[in-house]
Amino acid sequence: MIALTRRLLAVIAIAAPLAATAEVRSFALPENHRTMARTTSFAEMESLLRALDGRGIVTVSVEGRSVSGRPLYVVHLARGERPTWRVLLYAQQHGDEVSGKDALLVLVRDIARNPGLLPADVDLWIVPMVNPDGAEADTRKNAAGADLNRDHIALEQPETQALHRLARRLLPHVAVDCHEFSRDSESWRTRGWLKWPDITMDSLNNPLFDRAVRGAAQRFLDRAAEAEAAAGHPFLRYWVGGLPPDEEQRHSAPDIDGGLNGLGMYGGESFIIEAAARHADGRRDADLGNRVDAYLVLFRAILAGDGRRAEDLAAIEAARRRSLPPFIPTNYLWVNPEAAVTDFPVVETAIGRVVKVPTANLMTEMAVKRTVPTPHGYAVLPPAAAAFAAVLERHGIPFETVTATRPVIAETCTLVRLEEEFDQVYGRYEGRQIVARGKAAAVDLPAGALLVPLEGEAAVRAALVLEPAAMYGLYQLPTFRSLVSWDGALPVLRVVR
Ligand SMILES: [Zn+2]
Repeated sequence: MIALTRRLLAVIAIAAPLAATAEVRSFALPENHRTMARTTSFAEMESLLRALDGRGIVTVSVEGRSVSGRPLYVVHLARGERPTWRVLLYAQQHGDEVSGKDALLVLVRDIARNPGLLPADVDLWIVPMVNPDGAEADTRKNAAGADLNRDHIALEQPETQALHRLARRLLPHVAVDCHEFSRDSESWRTRGWLKWPDITMDSLNNPLFDRAVRGAAQRFLDRAAEAEAAAGHPFLRYWVGGLPPDEEQRHSAPDIDGGLNGLGMYGGESFIIEAAARHADGRRDADLGNRVDAYLVLFRAILAGDGRRAEDLAAIEAARRRSLPPFIPTNYLWVNPEAAVTDFPVVETAIGRVVKVPTANLMTEMAVKRTVPTPHGYAVLPPAAAAFAAVLERHGIPFETVTATRPVIAETCTLVRLEEEFDQVYGRYEGRQIVARGKAAAVDLPAGALLVPLEGEAAVRAALVLEPAAMYGLYQLPTFRSLVSWDGALPVLRVVR
């Protein structure tokens, strides 16, 4: 063993100049991204980013660490004197959804070589791998077994905490969340179908968020569709609901549960992109280059904009100053309000061609089913104050700790039951909260209670995190369920005066 080691050392010593060169040579992505057939590992990404850091307009930093201690890398690119349009692109929250990350790394490499690819008014921030532990293990969840894209309200995981810290500092005008879906899921394969698009994209449509900003993002989707058509990539708006004979409908898709556009809560335009990957035959990465290309088309379109950036910027800044609407939606669902029939393209695997399947089950709009009047603020009772103070701090939501008894008029809410209407396909609808709102009454808040006003930039987030009547709220999570009183009384009161 020792002899062998000596022998090896001798060989290494002879080859030292070459070995040293190999050691400092960093990982390189394929020159032509369309030929990519293997995703970039964490170590390769780290090597690439270290080599690019400080080159031209590229700066790499670390924003926290994963559960297993891997650094969460952030890449900053800006070339103008004072770029005004902040864009935050983030990928691989789900560790086994890879192509968004690969496309972002290609984007960084290309801009590093040719800064002119980045419009001068864009301040670009990129988190290529939000979930490095999941990426290394090739799992959806992180090393703690959490689905990060269901953690944007509770922020219990270090990865989502880091992402939100960054977003709160930046307050991006555009945030883009990059995913993949299964082109050949089992229910489709049994019909002999493959999903047709290379890539899908949609914008945040939570009705609590500003209508003008949502409208600007929706408008951009037409631009995205044009760009993909020009590049020859089959493209669809993100859809929910099933094809015939499926009648599956999404009853509700609030952000805590659906997780779409987790960073939309910072008031900018917010998009989700999902590229179509094949999983069934274990050849997920065989067409990786094609998915990366489809992603790059969208990234370039996002950076270029559609010529109405000044107008959009004004709308976003105005929305961030605006107070909440008079009602908070607590139950809303995806709908097809006109029962519009879509000729949905599918790949018929028997003949290998695209056929059109008519369906009215594809839903693209949100309808509000139930609302509650927007309260003046929320109060958290002392037994739950520590747990809620932690989550409020993680969200940067200002609050006051009451130091002497404070009389308020408030509604107490009661958790009647949790419904476990679990959906196998989407793993969703778990823990739907049925909550009864009590009548407003005089309450003496004891010292140690928290008071959270619903005002300023953080008001939307405060409502998302604290509204006890929300159909999907924090009480579906064990940490917060343990804070519910024996009689169902919730620890957060709706303060009306
Ligand atoms: Zn995903």
